[in-house]
Amino acid sequence: MKVAVFSTKPYDQRYFSNTNDGFGHEFTFFEEKLDMNTVRLANGHGGVCVFVNDVLDRDVLKQLADQGIKLVALRCAGFNNVDIEAAEEFGMHVVRVPAYSPHAVAEHTITLILALNRRINKSHARIREGNFALDGLMGFDLNDHPVGIVGTGKIGEIVARILHGFGCKLYAFDPKPSPVCEELGVEYVSLDELFQKSYIVTLHCPLMPQTHHIIDAEAISKMQECVMLINTSRGALIDTKAVIDGLKSRKIGYLGIDVYEEEGDLFFKDLSDEIIQDDQFARLLMFPNVMVTAHQAFFTHQAVQAIADTTLQNISEIEKGERCENEVTSELVKS
Ligand code: NAD
Repeated sequence: MKVAVFSTKPYDQRYFSNTNDGFGHEFTFFEEKLDMNTVRLANGHGGVCVFVNDVLDRDVLKQLADQGIKLVALRCAGFNNVDIEAAEEFGMHVVRVPAYSPHAVAEHTITLILALNRRINKSHARIREGNFALDGLMGFDLNDHPVGIVGTGKIGEIVARILHGFGCKLYAFDPKPSPVCEELGVEYVSLDELFQKSYIVTLHCPLMPQTHHIIDAEAISKMQECVMLINTSRGALIDTKAVIDGLKSRKIGYLGIDVYEEEGDLFFKDLSDEIIQDDQFARLLMFPNVMVTAHQAFFTHQAVQAIADTTLQNISEIEKGERCENEVTSELVKS
């Protein structure tokens, strides 16, 4: 199939091109993100391939459908940026990569927890300046530490397994508890109870209307003093303003985020010579107890290869009119 691939970086192009031998698709790689300003670039293609910050709202999908586009192939698991109902209405297939490496994201989550706890960014900077003092670097043992996991699907489950290895006391909230977690001894509790009992709260649920700003001022007020909050899922699970207030009052003692609700204008770009216009984000960067990575949790060799393998396979299946098990339907959204 002739596919317009949006939001691409050199590594996407490399992995897609190297994997395409057995598939024979024709790719046009665009660095631009897909939105109303760039939708015309898709003209002449049978499908579009997009990533986490491309905008596929009703208007964009209508324009794509008018250009004869029949397929939206997501190179990611989350589909919160696609209006699935509109896509169905316009007769378009939407496919995704439900699991490329849950290990990559889970391991990055643990990286943030460990680095924040032991203040690795501060100690690294200090040592490079010849300062070997320990004041301000004291951490805590993870052994016996109560951790709350919101969402124990593929990623949350691996986070639970790793933290179980550290000896943490694990609580979880998920409408569909995981047998693996139950076997590990993870205690499923209500969301409020999880907030009350956990000294670390880590988010692994999808972004949906029900989970938008699941961490707001009210949720934060129920948490432990000096709680560590980790988000490697989707930015809008967190009300950033409420979290900034929590950091200022020291209710939140540590924040580790790989995602940000307005990341679309920032992440995946080199803005080192630019002035950051997002004051809220700039404020976050000023806190000594905040660690931000720019949506890199997925970024391992194994995950990027798996994204290419699954995406190309998804495109082939739709092109041949076969059933694609990675198709996203409105039924899946409602389930
Ligand atoms: P998954 O579908 O396997 O698991 C999601 C879990 O969340 C499910 O068990 C589901 O029952 C649960 N859930 C649904 N509604 C909930 C609610 N209201 N409260 C608590 N739990 C709820 O998904 P996954 O593969 O584990 O991925 C989780 C999220 O991680 C994705 O939705 C995606 O947004 C994010 N992600 C981020 C990156 C990254 O690079 N930062 C990469 C991949 C995925």
